[in-house]
Amino acid sequence: MKAAPFAYARPAALSDAVAELVNADGGGKVIAGGQSLVPVLAMRLARPTTLVDINAVTGLDALRAVGDRLEVGATVRQRRVEHALESAQVPLLRLALPWVGHRELRSRGTVCGSLAHADPAAELPAVACCLDAELRLAGPDGERTVRAREFYAGAMTTALRPEDVLVAVSFPVAGPREGFGFAEIARRHGDFALAGVAAHVRADDAGDVSAATMTAFGVSDRPVTRDVTGLVRATGGDRSELVGALDDVVRELVDTDGDAHASNGYRRRLLRALAAREVAKAHRRAVRGTAEVGA
Ligand SMILES: Cc1cc2nc3c(=O)[nH]c(=O)nc-3n(C[C@H](O)[C@H](O)[C@H](O)COP(=O)(O)OP(=O)(O)OC[C@H]3O[C@@H](n4cnc5c(N)ncnc54)[C@H](O)[C@@H]3O)c2cc1C
Repeated sequence: MKAAPFAYARPAALSDAVAELVNADGGGKVIAGGQSLVPVLAMRLARPTTLVDINAVTGLDALRAVGDRLEVGATVRQRRVEHALESAQVPLLRLALPWVGHRELRSRGTVCGSLAHADPAAELPAVACCLDAELRLAGPDGERTVRAREFYAGAMTTALRPEDVLVAVSFPVAGPREGFGFAEIARRHGDFALAGVAAHVRADDAGDVSAATMTAFGVSDRPVTRDVTGLVRATGGDRSELVGALDDVVRELVDTDGDAHASNGYRRRLLRALAAREVAKAHRRAVRGTAEVGA
């Protein structure tokens, strides 16, 4: 199928991009890498009146350190971040990116595009929630910052208004006593997750756990983050003990009626096993104190 007709704008300034969206009066849509939007247009699941291509907007292609955070601009491709993260500044991003579709998709798709698209089974929104990333949005009233954990309202629904552009996302750079884990189960590599988890554990200088969080995705209408510090302390980060200890959290996080791909019970079993394994890994890495992403 072909997309329904639309007007096309390729502004060079952020203010012009916002003005185009305002002029479209609710009918505008930003296009970044097009990896999610183009199929949606072709299937006529969306019929925007105007596509606002942000790829020529000055400054949106910056990937840079800002204080103790890594800021990823709206047109930075996922693949570029994957390459740039060899030094493991944000290990969780590095662990998660290879799970996002295939390399070809990642060389066009942007990090911010994935965050804005808000597929409940997508990897990068889960990373952003787990790390408490901050999203910078520009609209007709200027810029505002929204925490990832407050950005997602439901499937494909976010705090973005029709006239907003997501300008950049910033992730905290990892310290030496932070550990991370990330894994998902999908039918084939490159498919969306049936269930997935991102985990983060921070230890103090004595090696005691000071914070632990996990974010589940693919199991409800949005990524959901839980503080599991008490459970990690109580189990000492032992994987087999965590399986049982995480049971109540997992029961609450899996919030679907089941679908053609998996039942609710199957998703719970997947998530429980993944969460125990990845939280245990994150714990081990944090206690070891190297912030590395190896085993
Ligand atoms: C075969 C296939 C497999 C895939 N597998 C996966 C997968 O396993 N995991 C996964 O996460 N994704 C997957 N994707 C989706 C994809 O590759 C993306 O990662 C991502 O959603 C798209 O980023 P993009 O830059 O291409 O966004 P676009 O397609 O350009 O835009 C997506 C949506 O976000 C909005 N948007 C984009 N940028 C902005 C911005 N700066 N401000 C405001 N709104 C914005 C658009 O208006 C649109 O609604 C897959 C896609 C395909 C085609």
